[in-house]
Amino acid sequence: MHDATIAQLAEALRTGKVSAVELAEHFLARIERFGGDLNAFITVTPESARAQAERADARLAAGDSTPLTGIPIAHKDIFCTRGVRTSCGSRMLDNFISPYNAAAVERLEAAGAVMLGKTNMDEFAMGSSNENSHYGPVRNPWDRDTVPGGSSGGSAAAVAARLVPGATGTDTGGSIRQPAALCGITGIKPTYGRVSRWGMVAFASSLDQAGTLARTAEDAALMLKVMAGPDPRDSTALPDPVPDYIAGLAKPIGSMTIGVVDDFFDDGLDSDNAQRVRDALAVMERLGATLKSIRLENIGLSVPAYYVVAPAEASSNLSRFDGVRFGHRAEGAGDLTELYMRTRGEGFGAEVKRRILTGTYVLSAGYFDAYYLQAQKVRQLISEDFARAFREVDVIAGPTTPTPAFPLGQKVDDPVEMYLNDIYTIGAPLAGLPALSMPCGLVRGLPVGLQLVGPHLSEGRLLRAAHGFQRETDWHTLAPPGI
Ligand code: GLN
Repeated sequence: MHDATIAQLAEALRTGKVSAVELAEHFLARIERFGGDLNAFITVTPESARAQAERADARLAAGDSTPLTGIPIAHKDIFCTRGVRTSCGSRMLDNFISPYNAAAVERLEAAGAVMLGKTNMDEFAMGSSNENSHYGPVRNPWDRDTVPGGSSGGSAAAVAARLVPGATGTDTGGSIRQPAALCGITGIKPTYGRVSRWGMVAFASSLDQAGTLARTAEDAALMLKVMAGPDPRDSTALPDPVPDYIAGLAKPIGSMTIGVVDDFFDDGLDSDNAQRVRDALAVMERLGATLKSIRLENIGLSVPAYYVVAPAEASSNLSRFDGVRFGHRAEGAGDLTELYMRTRGEGFGAEVKRRILTGTYVLSAGYFDAYYLQAQKVRQLISEDFARAFREVDVIAGPTTPTPAFPLGQKVDDPVEMYLNDIYTIGAPLAGLPALSMPCGLVRGLPVGLQLVGPHLSEGRLLRAAHGFQRETDWHTLAPPGI
């Protein structure tokens, strides 16, 4: 049952082969069995899951269901969930029980999805390995000694280990696509503003975007269809109507032109990983696509530009955690300044502090022009590079990550080395573009991903290309050994 996709489970629920309560129990039992060892969940919510599953069964019986009614899911612990701890992977919010649901949570709940719990993540979504969580690292189900990627590593590991068929994630610089690639599943980061950010703990507001982690493009389409759409509570949520992503999947890839950035296939990319990506591109060609080599002139500056812009926004967003209104509060502080200092000193981990320091520095009066303003100009140039490329090609394809999953602990002492993991994923969010990663092979027994980036609001096109690929290949069906 746990090997079934969301689409298959939806069919089984609809035809009464299984009930929502049975599904919830089945996956809760799997979380019990594997969840602890993988450390994929921060909070499991069996009681509310059972109640939601009963309501889903009632809806199914009444013929008032959607394709997600009764489907078990998990939310990254960055999404506010009413009455449930929302920690964002931080000691700062370890005691925070959200009084309301995030827009994405609300919509999935309204569709009848059953939340089984909240997944582990890098603290405040800062990281590429899930080693920055206050709750300890997540382990990659393909090899427990390696990282699952980050920051949505708990969601990715949970889906890969079949603890849940689909989960939410967020992507600011790669946090859906990179863990999806390292765990061998399909993840989509939609266009900036496609899914409301309301109720999502803010990291870098001009980049943050919610999306999905699932095993197939079809499942991603089912979830995204529900999550996406306008929201008056988020002024950056796009007003555009949400297309029927599922209906769009049926169209063939046909005459799609796929841009390939040759510069991505340099020494920085593991040679076996490169070969898997080239093999995947050859499959796309067989399906009728035309490959065209392109250049993104300024993409090499995406990592440095991101590591100015994102920390700048983070330093501002995280100023709200002061021990006064919510979250952790240091005991016994003598005055307000001491309360702030001790609360923030105790509540935040090392990486978050590093970002706050960097962000405050690049925004300071003396350095604003030299760093922040400069980074914003580079960001604009990168957006223009993409816009120029999309006048010639329909999507851009390439590797999601430079290597498969690396050993736990290998990069924790070298932040720059860690940041370079996102070299292929950071460009799309800087330009606000949608991007997807899907499994395209194994390297030394570990999964790697093919990334597709498209123009604004081309989620349907990306999902269709991925679905076409997944009909031809079976990389997305592989399960981690022993799972
Ligand atoms: N790894 C990147 C960072 O640490 C991206 C994180 C994300 O997308 N949330 O900031």
